[in-house]
Amino acid sequence: MSSTICDRASFKLAEPGASYPTQPSGDRDGGLRLVEVLVDLPTRRVTTAEEETENLYTYGIPAHLDIEPGDILSVPFGSQQVGAIAIRLVSDLPPGLAPNRLRDVEDVTGRGFFPATYWQLLQRVSNYYQTPLIRTIRTSLPPGLLRRSQRRIRLIPEAVPPHAEQFLQPSAQTILRLLTQSGTGDYTWQYLQRQVKGGYRGLQDLLKRGWVESYLEPPSPPRPKLKQAITLVVDLPPRDLTPRQREVLESLRRRGGEMWVTELLQTCNTSSGLLKTLQEKGCVVLDEREVLRRDRGIPTAPDRPKSLTPHQESALEIVNHLSGFQRVLLHGVTGSGKTEVYLQAIAPILERGLSALVLVPEIGLTPQLTDRFRARFGDRVFVYHSALSEGERYDTWRNMTRGTPQVAIGTRSAIFAPLPNLGLIILDEEHDGSFKQDQPQPCYHARTVAIWRAELEDCPLILGSATPSLESWQEHRHTSDPHTHYLSLPERVFSRPQPPVEVVDMRRELRRGNRSIFSYSLQEAIGQLRDNNQQGILFIHRRGHSTFVSCRSCGYVVECPHCDVSLSYHHTHADAVPRLRCHYCNYSRDYPQRCPECDSPYFRHFGSGTQRVAQELQRTFPELRFIRFDSDTTRAKNAHRVLLTRFAHREADLLVGTQMLTKGLDLDSVGLVGIVSADGLLHLSDYRAGERAFQTLLQVAGRAGRGDDPGRVILQTYTPEHPVIQAVRNHAYEAFVEAELRQRSELNYPPSGRLILLRLSGADAGEVERTAENLALELQGAMGNSIGELLGPAPAPVMRVADRYRWQVLLKLPPSEAEIPPIFDSLGRGRPRSVRLTIDVDPLTLG
Ligand code: ADP
Ligand code: ZN
Ligand code: ZN
Repeated sequence: MSSTICDRASFKLAEPGASYPTQPSGDRDGGLRLVEVLVDLPTRRVTTAEEETENLYTYGIPAHLDIEPGDILSVPFGSQQVGAIAIRLVSDLPPGLAPNRLRDVEDVTGRGFFPATYWQLLQRVSNYYQTPLIRTIRTSLPPGLLRRSQRRIRLIPEAVPPHAEQFLQPSAQTILRLLTQSGTGDYTWQYLQRQVKGGYRGLQDLLKRGWVESYLEPPSPPRPKLKQAITLVVDLPPRDLTPRQREVLESLRRRGGEMWVTELLQTCNTSSGLLKTLQEKGCVVLDEREVLRRDRGIPTAPDRPKSLTPHQESALEIVNHLSGFQRVLLHGVTGSGKTEVYLQAIAPILERGLSALVLVPEIGLTPQLTDRFRARFGDRVFVYHSALSEGERYDTWRNMTRGTPQVAIGTRSAIFAPLPNLGLIILDEEHDGSFKQDQPQPCYHARTVAIWRAELEDCPLILGSATPSLESWQEHRHTSDPHTHYLSLPERVFSRPQPPVEVVDMRRELRRGNRSIFSYSLQEAIGQLRDNNQQGILFIHRRGHSTFVSCRSCGYVVECPHCDVSLSYHHTHADAVPRLRCHYCNYSRDYPQRCPECDSPYFRHFGSGTQRVAQELQRTFPELRFIRFDSDTTRAKNAHRVLLTRFAHREADLLVGTQMLTKGLDLDSVGLVGIVSADGLLHLSDYRAGERAFQTLLQVAGRAGRGDDPGRVILQTYTPEHPVIQAVRNHAYEAFVEAELRQRSELNYPPSGRLILLRLSGADAGEVERTAENLALELQGAMGNSIGELLGPAPAPVMRVADRYRWQVLLKLPPSEAEIPPIFDSLGRGRPRSVRLTIDVDPLTLG
């Protein structure tokens, strides 16, 4: 609460529609001091972008207030007080707003939330991605930010004269009565306005008389959060423990003797009863500890900067001498030590009192990486991603605005982290598709936004990857721009060789009589893991068409009744009843014993999903310990960390998983990488399929041979002659990319052209189709034949998802930064309300 605020409030308040004795909104020259604000109205249920108006309103600035863009304000709106953000200072009234209708900002409730350039960035994102500003702001702010400060009204009993009611209008009387009757004499402004008809006027009256005061309740201080920790207190376990109890103690010891209870429970798959018993026996102590609501991870032993390899040295030399806006592509083969370069580039930034922003593709990858950052920079590391709780997000976000030198690590949306004093931005694994938001709008790419942000903050940007995107390769290799640099780390640290890639032709395997999903080579290699004291990774391509169920007699395929896709086979464990499931809408049904079409008993799945592989592993190698790492097993909070930690502690011989494990996993002990089938990746109907397959396979392969042993990669495929497979076998990044660039350029696909995908969906198939046709006509009419090329309308590759029909229109534009035709501002306005339109600028997939 602040007495200065309530003084002001009682001294000068805007009366809606009234004029002022002095010039409340004027400066000395008589010009208007106005501010455009974005009002945070309670979100209504909206189906189309236009219904969600910009909510941009103009208010007067009272003489006693100074307002800067980015301030959080309280403004009168209708009969309410609502939160708002100051966007722009202006001096002209918008056309259509009569001066006597102008209302004043009530107060500034929060300041200094945003760096000066922040709004320019959001505006640019909105413009480029064809999205109303309010939506971009919602994407960038932690949920509920504007609701954090509450305006309250408090009675000043000593100021109220006897029989005061007689002087008052009815609404003021009622408010006074409510306040007097309540124990504390204190209510929120909103509550009073809701309770009392004409409450706004009544409150103003009381404020003017000085009988009540208004104050701002600061955001409620986060309640300390307590969590149970467990600490090992004996060196040797007592004799009377069961083997299971010993095992749990041993697990705890291996992790440094101290853990959160929840994590120990998860890792050991044990019960809290067992932990209590261990406490009773005096082996451990359980106690409550306060946790700050930020993701701190597990305490890691501090580490020091490593002495660099010559390649790292020369890269760092250049990075450390960058000043202002400069762009660097750090192309380092897997295991070349890019992270070490990041760490040593960040250290001097922090010393200069600046902050660094590090973006990483997926949560699955962050634990290991963030541990490395924490080991180097300790408490100055903050992790920010959407999987945090609302409270954690708010606290972390708020802390960033304070401007203390820090390293913020996060996924895609962290590109909007409100760090003032930004000294460096890093995008690790910059080629990764998860940096692109598919929905909702803005469908932004964090790499594109990062370029703008670095430009606005005038700081360097480092894009790192072992397999740079074609976009980044082109921009850094085929350019004469002095602000872009290409740095390469062509060798692994200690000159370790890249692991040799052995391509196995699965057709030959079949001819040799091997019907297993594992080739003889792979079987032999898995069989040797234990003897070689090594671990292995088995990669399975998640999507594709390999898990569908079909009839060998008539070819019938079981499809989802709501989506145009085949159902996938799911079998969780040996005794469970197998089920079929839709990966789009989660519909499931039981597994038919016979073909529903022709009653043939030869009805089966051709799976190589993780489950199928897991079952086959169990059968072929009963002794082998393996961990499944896929979207089924990593759903729980922290599950990524727990599973990877178990693997790192060698509690399993093999990690079996999907895309998720292609990145960031850096373990010396991994000697074998098996790619069960590369084919699902190769044959996707998308112009980026080749690039994506190549990147994924090379990244997976790169997990092997990080220790002293060069390691072994076994790649199984039915099309060994495919150019992608050949390029992976030869680790031939450059040749592959240059060939791919030529092909793209012939067809005007990015990066030789720009794409805009208009996605339409709705429940009525005919209506969606007609709307798509109209939209295409509208576009054609507006563009003439001046620029670009219009493709479609066409049904989306998967035409129906969750009973919604999907059509799309694709626009090919020249590659330049040319403005998008203004037609987009009003595009599709006249369409039926039930048809949803998403504008995806620079789409990564055309599905
Ligand atoms: P990348 O990110 O390029 O795949 P990493 O940064 O993960 O590579 O480095 C691979 C491994 O090499 C890590 O275990 C890292 O600690 C180690 N490493 C990196 N640089 C050095 C160095 N200069 N000296 C010794 N070890 C290094
Ligand atoms: Zn059949
Ligand atoms: Zn479905």
